[in-house]
Amino acid sequence: KPEAGPQDSPWSTVSQYACQRRTTLYNRNKILTDALEVLAENYEFIESKGPCLGFKRAASVLKSLPMPIRSIDEIEGLPCLGPETMAVIQDVFECGSSSKVEEVLTDERYQTLKIFTSVFGVGPKTAEKWYRQGLRSLEQIVSDSSIHLNRMQQAGFQYYEDISKPVSKAEAEAVGQIIEEVVSCVNPDVTITLTGGFRRGKEFGHDVDFLLSVPGHGKEDGLLPAVIDQLRSQGILLYSEFQESTFDLSKLPSRRFEAMDHFQKCFLIVKLKKEQVVGQQEKQRCGRDWKALRVDLVAPPAERYAFALLGWSGSTQFERDLRRFARLERNMLLDNHALYDKTTNTFLQAKTEEDIFTHLGLDYIEPWQRNA
Ligand code: ATP
Ligand code: MN
Ligand code: MN
Repeated sequence: KPEAGPQDSPWSTVSQYACQRRTTLYNRNKILTDALEVLAENYEFIESKGPCLGFKRAASVLKSLPMPIRSIDEIEGLPCLGPETMAVIQDVFECGSSSKVEEVLTDERYQTLKIFTSVFGVGPKTAEKWYRQGLRSLEQIVSDSSIHLNRMQQAGFQYYEDISKPVSKAEAEAVGQIIEEVVSCVNPDVTITLTGGFRRGKEFGHDVDFLLSVPGHGKEDGLLPAVIDQLRSQGILLYSEFQESTFDLSKLPSRRFEAMDHFQKCFLIVKLKKEQVVGQQEKQRCGRDWKALRVDLVAPPAERYAFALLGWSGSTQFERDLRRFARLERNMLLDNHALYDKTTNTFLQAKTEEDIFTHLGLDYIEPWQRNA
């Protein structure tokens, strides 16, 4: 098998691809992966894609291991651990922490970009621009009249206090019930499926992601605008950004991972009444009885449901490796919409996620094992 490590190592069965590993939320190497992810994030901030992906990949491999690594010798034979990663791990074992990581954590630029990118609608590019203008805090940004914020960023600042806090599983379930009710008002044939981090079993997330599906060709047309209207008329819509479908049945899967998908979708901020969340009844003392919460909705065509579900369930590293595996090991192209076999020049159909794994010749990985 070309995708596994050297045969003489205890790690010879650990694949370089996250889609051939089972990664639960129980990370036994958190100290190491946290360190590596700080470096990955820093490289992301300076738009150094190669090193960023390298550190993310290394962290992902360590997350999949069934035991903690206790010395540098124990990582011998693991895939994706380059010399820089080894140096970080060695530092952590010898000194308790990596000086390189400490340096990043105390770096003004890293700290500032971390704060700026925590705002909904602010990516590394905008954060970098503000940093270069000498801005260092969120207060400076909102009080600087020369800075133009787009609609999404305005909402990001307006609800910052709420949406920068993690969303709990109880909140995700409560918001799920609300979306379910609203959607069934609009169209009783629609079913909603929780995707994203909560489908992978996470206790907390930065938003709640749902897939909406309607049986029948083209029946999803106009669905999300109607859902948005319904949320608005119920007085629980705080912000919405709707993206019309640009999906084309004949288009080949995208080669670029970062490309947004072409399905009809919307990015929302909704009001969640605290009384609607189990266990939060007592928390109504602070004047306001609601919390703003980020919600993403996607409505793919029925025949692409499985691809959309797989693509929106994450983790990002898992998705990235599924596509890389498809391309490099199977000569296929995979994205959120389709799977295309370049050898036979055909699109491969799928009703379920299992069908897609089967087409790729992969063992099925459950959603809670995709926390790569
Ligand atoms: P968190 O708990 O922080 O929300 P998450 O895994 O749910 O973690 P999201 O950013 O919500 O992260 O994304 C969920 C999945 O949906 C990811 O796998 C990502 O690749 C995919 N995704 C997110 N936004 C888009 C988009 N605009 N187009 C296509 N896919 C997307
Ligand atoms: Mn999410
Ligand atoms: Mn999301």
